[in-house]
Amino acid sequence: MIYSFTPPAVVGIPVVDSPALFPVHRIYCVGRNYEEHAKEMGGTGREAPFFFMKPADAVLYCAPDATAQMPYPTLTSNLHHEIELVVAIGVGGHHIKAADAHRHIFGYAVGLDMTRRDLQNDMKKQSRPWCIGKGFEHSAPIGAITPASQVPGIEQARIALEVNGQMRQNSVISKMIWNIAETIEQLSIGWTLQAGDLIYSGTPEGVGAVQAGDVLVGSVDGLSDLRMIITAPTAA
Ligand code: MN
Repeated sequence: MIYSFTPPAVVGIPVVDSPALFPVHRIYCVGRNYEEHAKEMGGTGREAPFFFMKPADAVLYCAPDATAQMPYPTLTSNLHHEIELVVAIGVGGHHIKAADAHRHIFGYAVGLDMTRRDLQNDMKKQSRPWCIGKGFEHSAPIGAITPASQVPGIEQARIALEVNGQMRQNSVISKMIWNIAETIEQLSIGWTLQAGDLIYSGTPEGVGAVQAGDVLVGSVDGLSDLRMIITAPTAA
């Protein structure tokens, strides 16, 4: 095959205890999947799940025992953190039933759904798409992927985010409105899931702004921590 120019490289995420990278296909995100977060965003707390996407190359890999760098993005003065459990799909499918969902899961990782909240809110007010608030460069930090077989209790795991050593978000995965299996069932009605898809499964309450210089440490029990510093905006 000859291309007009060199195609972009596949985005690959390291997998714990494996030499092979997880090749990213799409990034799906779930909106308002924890009741207390839905309330802080102005919702009723229990709504049908809804989804949005980020481009695969929004991934910012955060290696264990290192501090990844996220440049403060353009156009915003209200960059928010949303700590999330990421589900990595290893087997695709359409109309997957919740009872079968576990067969499609490759593993899990800690992720951040970084959000230009001011732009997202502006777009919401105008009934326009959120892409500019959600799907920008480096907006999908993620730690190493742990195979599902190594974390059988993930549904009961604690999920937390500290900023500069202070706890900002602290909850448990079991508080999800739509659990992992139900999320896969719903998502696979609207789209055909493929091996390589990532699902950012929603954030608990406590979202807030970060500034250049802030250090974020995200964790989910049993998974590789995510450590990241916000750096000065990249020069235009
Ligand atoms: Mn989110």
